[in-house]
Amino acid sequence: MSLKDEPGMMPMGQPVEPAVWSRNAPSYFHVMAKPTGAICNLDCKYCFFLSKEVLYPGSPFRMSDEVLEAYISQVIGAQRSSRVTIAWQGGEPTLMGLAFFKRAMALVRKHMRPGMSLEHTIQTNGTRLDEAWCKFLRENDFLVGLSMDGPRRLHDAYRVDKAGRPTHGKVMRAARLMQRHGVPFNILCTVHAANADHPLEVYRFFRDELGADFVQFIPIVERVAESAGEDGGKARPLYTQEGESVTDRSVCPEQWGRFLTTVFDEWVRHDVGKVFVQLFESALAAWCGLPPTMCVFAETCGNALALEHNGDLYCCDHFVEPAYRLGNITETPMLELMASDRQRAFGQAKRDALPRVCRECPVKFACNGECPRNRFMRAPDGEPGLNYLCAGYKAFFGNINHPMRSMAALLAQGRDPSAVMRVQAEAQAPHQAAPQG
Ligand code: SF4
Ligand code: SF4
Ligand code: SF4
Repeated sequence: MSLKDEPGMMPMGQPVEPAVWSRNAPSYFHVMAKPTGAICNLDCKYCFFLSKEVLYPGSPFRMSDEVLEAYISQVIGAQRSSRVTIAWQGGEPTLMGLAFFKRAMALVRKHMRPGMSLEHTIQTNGTRLDEAWCKFLRENDFLVGLSMDGPRRLHDAYRVDKAGRPTHGKVMRAARLMQRHGVPFNILCTVHAANADHPLEVYRFFRDELGADFVQFIPIVERVAESAGEDGGKARPLYTQEGESVTDRSVCPEQWGRFLTTVFDEWVRHDVGKVFVQLFESALAAWCGLPPTMCVFAETCGNALALEHNGDLYCCDHFVEPAYRLGNITETPMLELMASDRQRAFGQAKRDALPRVCRECPVKFACNGECPRNRFMRAPDGEPGLNYLCAGYKAFFGNINHPMRSMAALLAQGRDPSAVMRVQAEAQAPHQAAPQG
């Protein structure tokens, strides 16, 4: 084994104190690289990230080969686990062009160690995917996250290009192209004012028309300071996690709870084991006594960082703002930034800042106050830090208690949790067969 293969040695000859590594560094972490920064070919009306362009005035917004190699080598070298994810996100990462990603793959081959298992992921709006992209993604085993908000009229409400034109047709084309090429993809669907009241239409569209088998739902909560207009004029002002009100594009807490409950009711009757809804899987883990699998529902966080095009590393994708910049990986090794007291404090604040109402909440084990970015309300007793979506989560987690307990019990017996579907169907049957009138 060469020195480079020893745990505690950063590639590119940057030694890291083993003490730092063992004391603070998590066993697994996730870095989302943004090779074009905030640059995107679309102009989704709710996009909080486009405004991050103002953080880098005059920048070409293209990741250099130096930063690219620092990212690949350090993310591989810094993992204690043999499982490494190389993740790309935006803005729109495909704007870098295929040649950039081919160079990235060559660097992966150069730096990976025997026995490592690598996963490549890319989050894209899909509008630029063509045959050549699909061939590349398939050949290199990428898992694609495709952003789509449901059927045409719901998707096109907010997901438009720079000229304000709808994008649904192009995203559908990308999905069909990936299916033809055998590229696995997940749907990332944001839930907002336009689609939140249509949960079954959205879910059935993904399941039945698109043939998706993995879906993520993300609530749109766009905070706005009292003094700011919703769009802030033509140029988007820097979006920061400030303000106690939300735009009218945001999902309401009760709507979010209803959306999740309605999709869950459909899923638990028909699709357990067939369609993977990330939020339900996370909840099932919690009902099984395991940590929730999504960072937003975990007790602490801080293991999912964002890397800007110039090598700046931030605490989280949702906190790409000056106060949360940890440093630059071309100056300080990523592992050192990861394991810094600042990053640790960021992750632990998720637990330590929970208001009393959350600490005493019966569904805390599954919710944990959700993401700190949404904790800008006051609890009934006046304590700050309650999650804006609280009412929705309380209703949703309360509503799914029985089927979740059934699934957890099935798993504990070594049985397939999809057997819950029969139980649900039987529970439904007498109600459905009840004579009318
Ligand atoms: S595709 Fe993504 S990055 Fe681009 S504008 Fe839409 S939400 Fe923002
Ligand atoms: S701030 Fe929110 S999104 Fe970011 S890592 Fe923590 S829980 Fe996850
Ligand atoms: S449901 Fe509400 S009170 Fe309960 S943990 Fe979640 S945010 Fe806190």
